[in-house]
Amino acid sequence: MSTAPAVALRVTPAAERAIRDGHPWVFEGSIREQSRPGTPGDIAVVFDRKNRFLAAGLLDPDRAIRARMLVIGAPRTIDEAFLRARVSEALHRRQRLVSDPHTTGLRIVAGEGDGLSGIIVDRYDDTLVAKVYTRAWIPHLQGLLAALDGELAPRRVVLRSSRNVAADPNTPAELRDPTVRGDPLEPGEGIPFLEHGLHFEAHPVEGHKTGFYLDQRDNRHRVRDLARGLDVLNVFSYSGGFSVAAAAGGARRATSVDMAGPALAQARRHFQMNEAHPQVRGCAHDVVEGDAFQVLDAMGTAGETRDVVVIDPPSFAKEAKQAAGALKAYERLTELAMGVLVRGGLLVQASCSSRVETDDFVAAVHRAAARSGRRLAEVEVTGHAQDHPVGIPENQYLKAVFARAF
Ligand code: SAH
Repeated sequence: MSTAPAVALRVTPAAERAIRDGHPWVFEGSIREQSRPGTPGDIAVVFDRKNRFLAAGLLDPDRAIRARMLVIGAPRTIDEAFLRARVSEALHRRQRLVSDPHTTGLRIVAGEGDGLSGIIVDRYDDTLVAKVYTRAWIPHLQGLLAALDGELAPRRVVLRSSRNVAADPNTPAELRDPTVRGDPLEPGEGIPFLEHGLHFEAHPVEGHKTGFYLDQRDNRHRVRDLARGLDVLNVFSYSGGFSVAAAAGGARRATSVDMAGPALAQARRHFQMNEAHPQVRGCAHDVVEGDAFQVLDAMGTAGETRDVVVIDPPSFAKEAKQAAGALKAYERLTELAMGVLVRGGLLVQASCSSRVETDDFVAAVHRAAARSGRRLAEVEVTGHAQDHPVGIPENQYLKAVFARAF
């Protein structure tokens, strides 16, 4: 923990209001006074216009989000005991999931949604994966690890950094690549865990995110509920999560499409790992390696049809200026999906672009379907799984449309 005196901040009235309302980010543009430049992870204290304590958090001096508040209202020391209390509250919030023996892969700490802006922690069985999104956390990692140890006694912890932290030359070498503490992991070794009783493996060192897309758990479960007897196409499949879920729900056939060969190999492995499940065993699984747009187009041209099409692409818009292009890409994918989806078939289309609003995304999907001469009857529009509390609007990235296409 930092022993330097706190950096005092005074901010604009609008920023004061936002913080009081619980938004933990202090943008550089809203700072009116800063007592000293400080270094990443110094404690930052915001005082209100009457010079009273408003909030305390971690300073990030070189970033547009200049400080991330952890304590708002009444002052509290930010130390290991504080972090442990936050982790304990986060576990409490997920009590049902934490104690569910059939689901052992879940998000334990969801950044702002759990009062720990800039950090997430996922649990895969008895391995934790902590991902650091800002250098401000670096001086506090020992405290966080001790807090996690105290609450969960994990067998190992994998520490990962977001791209911008890993690329920063000032980031300590051991945080530039994922590091494993505790029980070592062999290169390529996956960590087995359960999702609604199905077997999966997370790859927290080589894989995307923290090794698996936990945020889609509830959506996978919905697909499982709707797949009985059907032919399912899972586009942008990664390691085949939606395919296995559909198979467990009684799908006749599941096709996983991705451009990444290793992801498809893992999808195959996931089917093998669930061989004991009679419905998974009874489902024919095939994989297609290639560009999703081209594969869909070729299938449509060849007259292939499917009863369910799941489309879960990577983020198309990380910045606001990319939102329009992202919507075009979503529309194109909907059109291509309509080319293979039977009348009355189910479209499940997701967007994880934080810069695309839900309403705009849903409208784009409807527009594209209409252009293809199809009418969509919406079943539901969903978001993240329950262990991903959003906290602030900026974190509301995942949305998915479930709709029948007539
Ligand atoms: N649905 C998955 C997560 C999908 S992540 C799950 O539930 O786990 C997005 C995937 O899209 C990645 O696996 C990436 O390899 C793949 N991808 C990105 N661009 C692609 C493209 N143009 N064509 C095919 N796959 C692509």
